[in-house]
Amino acid sequence: NQPLADLDPEIAKVLDDELARQRGTLEMIASENFVPRAVLQAQGSVLTNKYAEGYPGRRYYGGCEVVDVAESLAIERAKAVFNAEWANVQPHSGAQANAAVLHALANGGDTILGLSLAHGGHLTHGMKINFSGKNYHATAYGVDETTHRIEMEQVREAALRERPRVIIAGWSAYPRHLDFEAFRSIADEVGAALWTDMAHFAGLVAAGLHPSPLPWSDVVSTTVHKTLGGPRSGMLLTNRAEQWGKKLNSAVFPGQQGGPLMHVIAAKAVAMKIAGTDEFKDRQARTLEGASILAQRLLADDVAAAGIKLVTGGTDVHLVLVDLRDSALDGQQAEDLLHDAGITVNRNAVPFDPRPPRVTSGLRIGTPALATRGFGPTEFTEVADIIATALVAGAAGKADDELLASLRGRVRTLTDAFPLYPGLAQ
Ligand code: PLP
Repeated sequence: NQPLADLDPEIAKVLDDELARQRGTLEMIASENFVPRAVLQAQGSVLTNKYAEGYPGRRYYGGCEVVDVAESLAIERAKAVFNAEWANVQPHSGAQANAAVLHALANGGDTILGLSLAHGGHLTHGMKINFSGKNYHATAYGVDETTHRIEMEQVREAALRERPRVIIAGWSAYPRHLDFEAFRSIADEVGAALWTDMAHFAGLVAAGLHPSPLPWSDVVSTTVHKTLGGPRSGMLLTNRAEQWGKKLNSAVFPGQQGGPLMHVIAAKAVAMKIAGTDEFKDRQARTLEGASILAQRLLADDVAAAGIKLVTGGTDVHLVLVDLRDSALDGQQAEDLLHDAGITVNRNAVPFDPRPPRVTSGLRIGTPALATRGFGPTEFTEVADIIATALVAGAAGKADDELLASLRGRVRTLTDAFPLYPGLAQ
């Protein structure tokens, strides 16, 4: 029962240092967020000790009567938040949720059709060395060469050509809404199942600020830790429970996983409770407003003159994709530059990127974590200007120590005004 600091001072220091890093920088990785204290508490609890293979009321271990309450609450709340008939809250992660979806919807070797990784898709949607590309015959649609948008006529052509068993709607780096109704009609036309992976935009859907894929999809998968702001994990939903519910449950357990992480499931229940509140809706609205403010600033003349553009010319969601193909900066340099200014983002390939994936010609910048921190339009306007100033100076080779010190000062003013986890000591 020794405290961590005594038992393992090296790891205790990692926790302290990471808390300080999160407090002292602006977190703008589009897939990250800050979980509430209540989620940290549930996730760091004795529930981690419990084995509970099976589902509530149908376990393969004794002593599950208490954790059953947590899982049942998580399921009921998830269904309510997303207006879904059925939910499975056991996937350990988004990738495992997705493995279970394909396990349930297809057989090994079947053709699947998803958005190409190079155009914003996810590894689990058919990347060559991912399970999805190794176990299934993975084919892809891309974005249009000029609009950089997913054009449904092109998706239809790909579906007619490939005749997939499963069509995948969903993305990791794409700044626009998807046309779920059109995806459904294409799936019906070719006799495919439609799987939507809403990992990125699930929080917006929960708040009613983004179209819901539930009415159109056979199955919807999501992570819980991106816009949704819960513990790192995954979840499955469907409104076609009769057709898919049993298959999905057995694809998760025993198909893909053993014992569920009951501490994470309890934390998911907490996150789903929060997702039903007005405060959550307000936060998602600020997330969208922040992304739109950022887009507007990055479309201004000084930025355009530096050869910097936005993929699709703007955003409908919680992120922007900066297109650096015509600028002097590559993705790696731009990521490093913003890091030096105190802003964390990730470099990201843009469609038709001439640079290799380790370098890229793009940045993916998201607003969920800062909205959770409390930022509104005033703060996002300042953040957007800091980013624009850094990128314009960087592209001109003028991001010197003096400029970076002044940008770090502006970042510090913002982080000081919005303390993260006040009073928390790890
Ligand atoms: N699906 C999408 C669309 C994602 O963007 C991600 C993560 O980035 C995942 C699935 C995988 O989630 P995890 O990292 O929890 O496995």
